Amino acid sequence: MVKRGRKVKKYYHVKRLIPVIPKSREFKRNLRNELDWCYAAHYVDSAIKTAYSILNSWRRNYLKGRRKRNKPRIKRKFARIKETLYVFRDEKIRITVKPREMYLEFDLSKTWFKKRVKGWDLGELILKENKLILTFRKPLEKERVTEYIGWDLNKYSLDGFSPKYGWIRVDLKKLYHIHRVHEIKRKKAQSRASKKPSLKPVVSKHGLRERNRARDFVHKLTTHLVRVFPKAIHGFEDLDKQGMYKMSKRHNRDIAKQNWKMIIHFMMYKAHKMRLVDPRNTSSICPRCGEKLIKLRKGQVVKCKKCGLTLDRQFCGAINIYLRMCGFPPSSSVFYHVVIKKMIPKWKTQMKGGRGVTTNGDKTDDMLSMNPERADVDATQGVPTYPKPLSY
Ligand SMILES: [Zn+2]
Repeated sequence: MVKRGRKVKKYYHVKRLIPVIPKSREFKRNLRNELDWCYAAHYVDSAIKTAYSILNSWRRNYLKGRRKRNKPRIKRKFARIKETLYVFRDEKIRITVKPREMYLEFDLSKTWFKKRVKGWDLGELILKENKLILTFRKPLEKERVTEYIGWDLNKYSLDGFSPKYGWIRVDLKKLYHIHRVHEIKRKKAQSRASKKPSLKPVVSKHGLRERNRARDFVHKLTTHLVRVFPKAIHGFEDLDKQGMYKMSKRHNRDIAKQNWKMIIHFMMYKAHKMRLVDPRNTSSICPRCGEKLIKLRKGQVVKCKKCGLTLDRQFCGAINIYLRMCGFPPSSSVFYHVVIKKMIPKWKTQMKGGRGVTTNGDKTDDMLSMNPERADVDATQGVPTYPKPLSY
């Protein structure tokens, strides 16, 4: 609607329905009695519990506007079977369906994964329509864990810091590339499909393939990280991606490519231990004095206004995450003990000649003032990586 060359916005007032989910004990009891149940009694409780959790999650998302009004439906049916509700004996699992009447039995003696799960405890089972999912618990190793690694997730790389390993850089360019390639392919397919509707299934196929490829990459990456640092506690930013979606469209698309959540999610169950830290200002405050940092060289290098500390932005993020996960506030003594003292020998072995510690090499105007005692240490030549960069 256009009036005198000006756009006039129209507003509507709509009443929004707020779903109420009855939670009283009485309601639940009646519900349990109403459901005519011929299977073992515990399934009904589990079913009600699952239904409640689905409804609650739908309600939460609906109130935030992320779901529509139609009620959630279960597409893939499943039943959870707790450890107390099945018997595992002689390499056979026996699940009660109807007590003293119907049982399901699974023979594990010839399964391909037998060797892999040797010595592990069987956990909760998930029974699906055509398969049974087994979960295993690996008994904790007795050794004490003292290794912490703080990880900073970036567009093209995953940067980690720990006093033991120094700066660890993992290349994520391939992951970015996967999404970029599919984005271009998808655009082409979409424009073709808009002219020829019969091609629409091809478009949806692209999304699936992209997701699978990204997932495969992230699986390999996380498995590798866990293998290389088996005893470490990994620290990540507690990213709420949805909160980051407020910025520009261009930025959105880049963030969507990151699969950051996927990486964190996979690490969560693969890694020995994980810790999530508050993501605020991890790459914008100085790890030594806590002052704001200013960006140099298109934001690749950051410099502290107060103390002059100059670092690679990603490396700085990793240090900040590391300090945060250990509970250290920004302080120059902590920074000296944790970062400088541990890093200097590594810098020295890695780098030859030159003066001044700069993160990005060649120019000396961005001199790092983080080595008050030893001026002969040089952290130049692009990106120092310790140990060797894990490349994919
Ligand atoms: Zn500072």
